[in-house]
Amino acid sequence: MAAVRAGSVKRVTSTANPVVKAVRALHQRKARAESGLFLAEGHKLVLDALAAGWPPTMIVALEPGDGPVADLAARVRAAGADVVFANAMVMEKLARRDNPQTVLGVFEQRVVLPSALRPGTIVVLEEPRDPGNVGTIVRTADAIGAAGVVLVGASADPFGVEAVRATMGSIFHVPLARTDAAGFEAYAARFDGAVVGTHLAASLDVRDLEPREPQLLVMGTEQSGLSDRLAAACTSLVRIPMAGRADSYNLAVATALALYELRRPLLAGAKA
Ligand code: SAM
Repeated sequence: MAAVRAGSVKRVTSTANPVVKAVRALHQRKARAESGLFLAEGHKLVLDALAAGWPPTMIVALEPGDGPVADLAARVRAAGADVVFANAMVMEKLARRDNPQTVLGVFEQRVVLPSALRPGTIVVLEEPRDPGNVGTIVRTADAIGAAGVVLVGASADPFGVEAVRATMGSIFHVPLARTDAAGFEAYAARFDGAVVGTHLAASLDVRDLEPREPQLLVMGTEQSGLSDRLAAACTSLVRIPMAGRADSYNLAVATALALYELRRPLLAGAKA
């Protein structure tokens, strides 16, 4: 196996530096789409990524970069990533906020086709618009041992800074897939398991479903719920019981509740 070339080390002191401009541009969806890169903030996230076999292409670290930051810099350089040391002014500009993290990682995006996901419980989100919801759902999918998250149609970018922040590192653990409504219909038709849609008008209570993997859990949009088209591709529709006066649960909360029910018998420590 060829040895990995150690990454370079640079120091930047000006916000006009082209590297600073390119990294800062990754706050914009267009720049992420064009480059295929994204930002993840913080020492822990870079460590999570390394542990998951997803090394950064670059880290930017607050100078002088000694102690744990020096250790991290050595590790990412050995994995082939470039290291840029920057002053506090540059770090604030890059993070676009006061008191930024001391380390910022730049990573290549990874997205697969739904058919490439391993069998298990897979969360399908129809056109989710809120990046915080998407990130929270990726984190929940990770915590509960789901096999992946599929985004259908025009969705919030899971690699946006807000979404990545909300995943708390789970972006590096949960495979993501993307497709459109027609692609989902084809995937669901070939899927060797239950396709469970959540719908406010369903008559079946999610607690009365007998969950069995592999299974898809299909969630509707934040605004108008599950579309007729995606609902028609489901093998069953379930509702999550409510007792108060709210119209519905928030999308991320509803996903967590339904996922818990669907994976309850499979969770470690569950009673037989
Ligand atoms: N006004 C929307 C509607 O009519 O469905 C509310 C959408 S809700 C904020 C977002 C998604 O969460 C829904 O499409 C559904 O997938 C799920 N959801 C929320 N509460 C639910 C419930 N009580 N039963 C079933 N699904 C629910």
